[in-house]
Amino acid sequence: MNPADVPGLPEGVADRLHEEGIEALYPPQAEAVNAGVTTGESVVASVPTASGKTLVAELAMLSAIRRGGKALYIVPLRALASEKKAEFERWEELDFTVGVSTGNYESSGEWLASRDIIVATSEKVDSLVRNDAPWIDQLTCVVADEVHLVDDRNRGPTLEVTLAKLRRINPGLQVVALSATVGNADEIAEWLDANLVDADWRPIDLRTGVHYGNAITFDDGSQREVPVDGKRQTPALVDDALVGDGDHGQGSSLVFVNSRRNAEAAAKRLGDVTSKRLTGEEMRELRELADEVEDVSDTETSTDLARAVRKGAAFHHAGLAPKHRELIEDAFRARLVKCVCATPTLAAGVNTPARRVVVRDWQRYDGEFGGMKPLDVLEVHQMMGRAGRPGLDPYGEAVLLAKDYDTRDELFERYVWAEPEAVQSKLAAEPALRTHLLATVASGFAHTRSGLLSFLDRTLYATQTDDPDYLAQKADTVLDYLERNDFLTREREDDDDVRLKATGLGHTVSRLYLDPMSAAEVVDGLAWGDENEREMRRRLDGVESDTDGSRTKETEAGGFQTASELVAGSERADESGRDGQDADESDRTYPTPLGLYHLVSRTPDMYELYLKSGDRERYTEECYEREAELLGRTPSEYSDTQFESWLSALKTARLLEDWANEVDEDRIAERYGVGPGDIRGKVDTATWLLGAAERIAGDRGFDAVAVREAKKRVEYGVRDELLDLAGVRNVGRKRARRLYEAGIETRADLRDADKSVVLGALRGRRKTAASILENVGRQDPSMDDVSADESTAQAVAEGTEAEESASGGGSDTESDQASLGDFG
Ligand code: ADP
Repeated sequence: MNPADVPGLPEGVADRLHEEGIEALYPPQAEAVNAGVTTGESVVASVPTASGKTLVAELAMLSAIRRGGKALYIVPLRALASEKKAEFERWEELDFTVGVSTGNYESSGEWLASRDIIVATSEKVDSLVRNDAPWIDQLTCVVADEVHLVDDRNRGPTLEVTLAKLRRINPGLQVVALSATVGNADEIAEWLDANLVDADWRPIDLRTGVHYGNAITFDDGSQREVPVDGKRQTPALVDDALVGDGDHGQGSSLVFVNSRRNAEAAAKRLGDVTSKRLTGEEMRELRELADEVEDVSDTETSTDLARAVRKGAAFHHAGLAPKHRELIEDAFRARLVKCVCATPTLAAGVNTPARRVVVRDWQRYDGEFGGMKPLDVLEVHQMMGRAGRPGLDPYGEAVLLAKDYDTRDELFERYVWAEPEAVQSKLAAEPALRTHLLATVASGFAHTRSGLLSFLDRTLYATQTDDPDYLAQKADTVLDYLERNDFLTREREDDDDVRLKATGLGHTVSRLYLDPMSAAEVVDGLAWGDENEREMRRRLDGVESDTDGSRTKETEAGGFQTASELVAGSERADESGRDGQDADESDRTYPTPLGLYHLVSRTPDMYELYLKSGDRERYTEECYEREAELLGRTPSEYSDTQFESWLSALKTARLLEDWANEVDEDRIAERYGVGPGDIRGKVDTATWLLGAAERIAGDRGFDAVAVREAKKRVEYGVRDELLDLAGVRNVGRKRARRLYEAGIETRADLRDADKSVVLGALRGRRKTAASILENVGRQDPSMDDVSADESTAQAVAEGTEAEESASGGGSDTESDQASLGDFG
């Protein structure tokens, strides 16, 4: 089918596609058109990776807009939102407008009302619905990308409920659901009242097989010799792809492993393979790329990544900073980086095809399972689907590894020939129901128990279950919980139905996008702090000033004090190498930042940092040292799981506290065994949760000032005295500290300061200095003809040895800070 023959498309679209080299639709695309995707029909397209799902979505959205509508594209990952937006923006030439919805969960994104196409994650869409975004009821077409993720334990229910809500708000809504090939696409289609396109066509041949001994055996029975020669299998396969295949030149490889550490170690080893196959020009370009990688953050992860990149290899996992990921993905697509070792996150959605995919690890540690667990077929197929770049490779090859003959057979059975699993709704899990039932009531989708149940009837869960009562029972348990914690009220009505009404707290929690259990934890913690404030202050002040020994008394609040509390305050000052700044704390705030960080870290909305070996002892000790700061009673050491999570929350809280005390990013990474991406993630989540806690504190009549301050400090990663400066766009934590040390302590100072001092403090970076002065509202921000004050430059250089580019103070400060607290 030629694009010009597609019914319903706006003028200019077919021509534009021709210009892009799209002469004919791929068969599954043509099938989708025949199923009515451009004439308003709902369609589920279950097709392999790289078979052009995005174009199906674009055809649907553009034709819907032509009919006077508005389209929403739901992405599974935040990182994909901007990628998709950039892709869709080429339609702006034809006057279609595109917007991506980011910003706080609480915002309603009114400006998006003027956009034709809106891109957002399912969480963000869910929050927009909860906050009555004015344009939601104007949507006529919704695309759900990677809809098979409804199966995901954590995030699936949100996508499921969001689609149900959107369909409820807009009864004629066209839903286009794009899915990997799954076992039960027909059920998804039934749920969405959609036509089904179920194809296994691929634009490029994919050969899948298992490497064992000295050869790969493919699914069609053919073999390719890849001798190992005493090497390990993976290096042999990566090298073999690089040597190429007769006329087809070099091919790059994507190696999937099961942990971050393995990804890093494999990249290091495979660098020795790739480095031997580089041209001089490539080496030069890779050196430049490595410098850019190193500039992203001053952590060990950054250094290790740069080292691998110099040799033509890289690793890719969730611990990388977003900028790292972008650099690596781009360089891999440009064929400069020859081999990427990745955790399965890369298999999800990111467009990084390679000639050869090596699925090195097909088992992964699973805590709930209690050991190594084989990956799902769907997941392995998604990884394998990354093989073969249309137009660039003659074919794609995806290979599993076997050490013995039996494993080879097992892998063929288990993955190569296996059908992917059926997608199963995870809605009945309690955490999901807790959140979604409250939101459904609070945002007016249901006012009674029966209304709630009939809403649930529109979910995939209802389509799949053969026990309709089960969900009703679960719902009642969750309603009990929500009522007990003051999120909603229940009143029996005459007709035996039950009226449901969200309380003030319930509304706040729903709009803030909190898990009700997180909110309950925060309410309890703040109430506990309020009740025990005098006692805790006494203990804390005792730490500072009381030397008569009375602090060793057992306190009413439980726990006991230890002499080590004496050092708690001064130790914090030591941490950042800036002694004495915390010395005068007689009027210290209560709750303390650490107490608040601990409180939000123990909510289910904060992913835990695991305790590693030695951590239990370390944090047990810290727990008793700083017990007076924690907002709640420390669980007994013998209540194993409770105490354990209390400690891992303390570990997270200490990370946040270090960040807010200006400890360098690399030290934090090392101390807590995390990557820069993790630090950023924790900081974002804490900022969001503390913002929510601030609101809850205000609503409930607790003092919100301490919460606000703790939030600001973690948001900017600075101590109190820098809060004013660090809030200026482009300043960030490191530059704020340098300016402060040069005597510029406030925004007002910055507006009046001698420009040469500003320039000296900013290490002679003219552009940065000018933009900062502009952002702070200085009349004449230009830095032309200004020379840096030498003594300032020197003093600042001695004061801080960290690099300009450190996280929070580097060139992407602006975007970092703009995105804080944003999960959409
Ligand atoms: P996926 O199904 O994995 O989402 P994409 O939509 O990213 O796949 O498409 C993969 C590539 O195929 C893209 O580069 C896209 O431009 C290209 N493509 C899509 N449809 C066609 C077509 N009909 N003809 C040629 N190239 C196409």
